[in-house]
Amino acid sequence: MHLIEATRALPEQLKIWANACGLNSPVRPDSVLLTHAHLGHIEGIGQFGKEAMGCQNLTLVASDSVSSILQKRNLMNPFVRGDFTSEREPNLEQGGVRFDFIPVPHRDDSSDTHAILISGEKKRVLFLPDHDDWEQTLESVGYSTPNDWFQALGATHVLLDATFWNGDELSGRDMTEVPHPTVEETLARVQDGALGGPEIILIHLNHTNPLNNPDSPQSRMIEVAGHRIGRRGWRIEL
Ligand SMILES: [Zn+2]
Ligand SMILES: [Zn+2]
Repeated sequence: MHLIEATRALPEQLKIWANACGLNSPVRPDSVLLTHAHLGHIEGIGQFGKEAMGCQNLTLVASDSVSSILQKRNLMNPFVRGDFTSEREPNLEQGGVRFDFIPVPHRDDSSDTHAILISGEKKRVLFLPDHDDWEQTLESVGYSTPNDWFQALGATHVLLDATFWNGDELSGRDMTEVPHPTVEETLARVQDGALGGPEIILIHLNHTNPLNNPDSPQSRMIEVAGHRIGRRGWRIEL
């Protein structure tokens, strides 16, 4: 049982996870993996500590900068750090599944940021919840289109940053301060689902994103383009 990211909804998510696996009590993960240290991704990490779950020696896989942020906030007590090896080495490998961290540019104000490639025997899933823009990301990984990159990774599924639908979404706030490629731009860049390529599953939706409403015209556009929107309890057999 490997948990990627610890959000503020962690207790509820551990129950959803248990239900999806047919277990009677909330899941206690064997390891926790973190992509970066922005609030929404680490807010639930304290739940593993003495005051709540009382975990000890839980494996934490995260970069040096993410770990040092947790250390400074005194949140490392439940954890032992797993290896965080350099690129092209699996960061964690257990039970036939391996996890590789891939650095991606994303407001490196507090920590660095990684995408995680999860490889099983049958399927390979790229988890990319946050990045600033496609130009920088593609330049950093060395490909000219998202599909070239996904194909080179052998990804069968991509869980992809879909924070904002478009640039009009945050009234009264400067959206350049929270850079993400918009879903409109991502749609223009990724290959139509009907033409092959990995299955694209849009995740990490801001509350303002019309994709939260399954009946919105925008949700319909995703469906027509042959992609999906992430839903709770949904599974991929690795
Ligand atoms: Zn972030
Ligand atoms: Zn985020």
